[in-house]
Amino acid sequence: MLTPILQTDTGPLLHKAVEEAARLLKAGEIVALPTETVYGLAADAFNPAAVAKVFEAKERPSFDPLIVHLPNKKMLDEVAEVPAEIQPIIQKLVEKMWPGPLTLVLPKKASIPDIVTAGLPSVAVRMSKNAVFRRVAEALGRPIAAPSANRFGSISPTSANAVVAELDGRIPLIVDGGACLCGLESTIIKVEPGSPKPIITILRPGPITPEDLKPYGRVKHASRTVVDEATEAPGQLASHYAPRTPLRLLSSPEDFKPEPGKRYALMSYRGDASDGYVGLADWVHVQILSPGKGKLPEAAVRFFYVLRELDRLGVDEIIAEPMHEHGMGIAMMDKLRRAAVKS
Ligand code: AMP
Ligand code: MG
Repeated sequence: MLTPILQTDTGPLLHKAVEEAARLLKAGEIVALPTETVYGLAADAFNPAAVAKVFEAKERPSFDPLIVHLPNKKMLDEVAEVPAEIQPIIQKLVEKMWPGPLTLVLPKKASIPDIVTAGLPSVAVRMSKNAVFRRVAEALGRPIAAPSANRFGSISPTSANAVVAELDGRIPLIVDGGACLCGLESTIIKVEPGSPKPIITILRPGPITPEDLKPYGRVKHASRTVVDEATEAPGQLASHYAPRTPLRLLSSPEDFKPEPGKRYALMSYRGDASDGYVGLADWVHVQILSPGKGKLPEAAVRFFYVLRELDRLGVDEIIAEPMHEHGMGIAMMDKLRRAAVKS
């Protein structure tokens, strides 16, 4: 391993990791940090040269904007302009949902360099609730630009090990904060004035579900087809989150007839033979997202880990069972569809 990893399991280790991460960020370097969603590759959002290093390490195209993570709620005013018409709902969302996996797209202020937003007049902001991330953000005292700590288009990392697999030798530090508690990238929304209620458009589905947002406004569902690509969240390319192994998402067991001589692995939702998928083929391997009853939040935590493990097998094709398309199932189905699109 080329990139050092700092652990955070004890008070002194945590202290040392936070100090070192903040020191590097202040010096214009980039650092992989845990968040509650996935591991992020962090840079000082006010330092365009540091942010450029994030794009370089990830091989991320410059048209794909980054999310800005705030050290505290007050700093929202420094990076974004909240239009008066939506001030009350934004205030409520910030009060109730932050820190947490909800990203707001708002008009940007000049303090945020153009490289962060890929030249867009808007900025995507959130506040992570991961204790390690928050300590680093507080120590830096500035907003942190942090996309997922993986090579562009690849599977998001939900553990320090997964970051090593993606970026070892390309970055100066990985802070290990254990496994991510949500396991899926943040929900991204845009808010517009509306009568009688403001309109909330989900630009990227995630851990905060349409049901969670309903009390705050009229929720427009994210586009559920990869064909109908969301141009408002520019990085949401049709082909994304892709394992190297071809992936096929089934809609029912009848969709799949194994071809002789081919090696298949199954991504099963709850591993129950009565669902009709487990017995379909002589699987090289079966990974179960949420064994037993099948719970969407548990499946979400394991989702990218399971995808990564299946990708390592070197099979001809990964076959994925469909999930219920509600709650966190919306985001996972969206990701599976994108993973299934050949780039
Ligand atoms: P991530 O890779 O998880 O950091 O997410 C970054 C994604 O957030 C981008 O690919 C976009 O889809 C979305 N995003 C970031 N900034 C904006 C913005 N200003 N407007 C709309 N979507 C944005
Ligand atoms: Mg990403």
